Amino acid sequence: MATDLPAGVDLFLAPNPGPMTLDGTNTWRITSHDAPGAPAVVIDPGPDDEPHLRQVAAAGPVGLIVVTHRHRDHTAGAARLAELTGAPVRGADPVECVDGPPLADGERLVDRLQVVLTPGHTTDSVCLRLLDSAGATVAVFTGDTILGRGTTVIAHPDGALGPYLDSLRRLADIGAVPVLPGHGPVRPNLAAVCAEYLTHRTQRLDQVRAVLQEIGPTATVAQVTDVVYDFLDPDDATLRGAAERSVAAQLDHLRGAPS
Ligand SMILES: [Zn+2]
Repeated sequence: MATDLPAGVDLFLAPNPGPMTLDGTNTWRITSHDAPGAPAVVIDPGPDDEPHLRQVAAAGPVGLIVVTHRHRDHTAGAARLAELTGAPVRGADPVECVDGPPLADGERLVDRLQVVLTPGHTTDSVCLRLLDSAGATVAVFTGDTILGRGTTVIAHPDGALGPYLDSLRRLADIGAVPVLPGHGPVRPNLAAVCAEYLTHRTQRLDQVRAVLQEIGPTATVAQVTDVVYDFLDPDDATLRGAAERSVAAQLDHLRGAPS
């Protein structure tokens, strides 16, 4: 996989594979192209796994740790990596920050990274543009907003569908650059995957609308999930829970509830 990565970008795969984390959390390490040897930025330390964090820390000095959102499979190792490297931790949510302010939309981090606030998966989800020396975007780190395989979950009630659809449209406008996701392999074309995700969400919303017409407007999350996700193994509690959170987000969106 390393051969597909932009120059100065390294991937450390955390040993936490699972149904929601795919192969595990992708911990990204980005070095400056203006000053080789300058402290790197680490995106998503991942779980609090000592060998994983030590491997990341051993790759060279770290000047900043960024978390793409508050989920523990991305953030649990942040405090320990901060301890190992002396670097501050920053995310969009002040609660995730250690010795640094929350990330701001459009903010440049070192010379190569720019923050894009992309609420939806969670309220505090961010993506990061990877810039070339002329300031053009050459790839985007997407956290869980876009995954390397399949689609992501709207983590209702923290996440919400309306902001998520807006974030996808915003990312689509960046263009056909590679996606460096929080889980799973690199995807070649951000605009194409945003279009896929938008189509998928629109289809699911149509399905949920149809079920509401059939069962009635007071249909519960469980009832709608039974119909829309009838292909899921009902005994798989993790996937069932994820499906129910997605349905809850869709129902909120369709019912116009505040999120
Ligand atoms: Zn997540």
